[in-house]
Amino acid sequence: MSTYTKKQVADLVEGRAPWSTVHRMLSMPKDAGRFALYLEVLQDKVSFDARIILPLGPHLHIVQTKDKAWVTMCDCGHDFGDYKQNWKLNALVYVRDTEDAMAEVYPRLMAPDPAWQVYREFYCPTCGVMHDVEAPTPWYPVMHDFEPDIETFYRDWVNLPVPERA
Ligand code: ZN
Repeated sequence: MSTYTKKQVADLVEGRAPWSTVHRMLSMPKDAGRFALYLEVLQDKVSFDARIILPLGPHLHIVQTKDKAWVTMCDCGHDFGDYKQNWKLNALVYVRDTEDAMAEVYPRLMAPDPAWQVYREFYCPTCGVMHDVEAPTPWYPVMHDFEPDIETFYRDWVNLPVPERA
C-alpha cells in the first residue's frame, strides 16, 4: 500500500507543494500504490477518455488511446502523435531571438544576448498552454529530452502491469 493518501498526492499535483517534492516523491523506488494514486489524480483532472500512462510535464502526458496507441497528449486532449516522436515538432513554437523579445521575460541587463542564446517556447496548438521552454544556442536543433522506457518503468520500478499497446 502507498504511504500517501490520494488527498496528499492531489495536493502535491495541484501545486500546494513544490514540483521538486512531487518529483522526489515519484522517484523514490518501489511504491506502486503511490504511482497508481498519482495517475488517478492526474486522470481526474483531464476530460479526455485516453488513459494516462506517464506524465511528461504539468499539462502533458503519454496516454493510451482507445485503440491502444501510445501518444503524447495535452490536458485539453490535443494529440501530439506517437510517444516516441518528438512532440515538440508538432507544437506551436515561439522563438525569442531579439533583444525586445528577451526583454519581455528578462530585466534588460539580465537578458542573454540573442546572438548566443535564444528561447524556444512550445505551445499546444489547441489550447495554447505552454509545455516547455528551451534555451539553446540559435543553431542548435530542437531537443528531444525525454524518451522514457515505459515497459521497464512499469515492470521493474513500480511493479504494475505494462499498459497494452497496439
Ligand atoms: Zn492543449
